[in-house]
Amino acid sequence: MLRALRKAVWEALMELADSGLVQGTSGNVSGREEDLLVIKPSGVPYGSLKPEDLVVVDLRGKVVEGELRPSVDTPAHLEIYRAIEGVKGVAHTHSTYATVFAVLGREIPVYTTELADLFGGPVPVSSFVPPGHPGTGVEFAKKTKPGRFRALLMRSHGVFTAGPTAADAVKAALIVEHSAKIALLAELLGKPEPLPRSEVEELHFRYMSRYGQRKG
Ligand SMILES: [Zn+2]
Repeated sequence: MLRALRKAVWEALMELADSGLVQGTSGNVSGREEDLLVIKPSGVPYGSLKPEDLVVVDLRGKVVEGELRPSVDTPAHLEIYRAIEGVKGVAHTHSTYATVFAVLGREIPVYTTELADLFGGPVPVSSFVPPGHPGTGVEFAKKTKPGRFRALLMRSHGVFTAGPTAADAVKAALIVEHSAKIALLAELLGKPEPLPRSEVEELHFRYMSRYGQRKG
């Protein structure tokens, strides 16, 4: 069932593991096709994860196929899919630098063209949502800008990202972490100026137009 989506989500999980953004069994990725989700199983280390280990659940979280239990974050993934039409991939990490900003309740300012390109604005931070409690989807829909890539720092927790594919969600997670690292180091060494809003919008518009033409 959903062989192509299983493979795509598994590849996205492997990319996340290779990037160093997740440790042990933490973090997860899912992908949506119509009314079904493919998601990482709970508590399985990335190194031993195979595409057939991934779990298929319906939009209410009921397991449709799979021997293992789905990720404990499945309800949060489901909320994001239900809240935003067009989202077909979601990723979640506790990546170090982004989580530093999440702990401080601080958005990541647009200091680089890379962040402007992808998100067209700062990476926002949510109100505190205790893990396992509802609210992630509502916060995500309310605080992130519409666009191909979306990202939200979860207050005192980590990061959720979303996009039209699982690979896009992972790409967003990588750029969020890289941007948080640059922001933190720049603020340590000096007083960086965020890019002007008009410049950010221009960069974002140009990047998204090019992205579309590459059929990415
Ligand atoms: Zn988490």
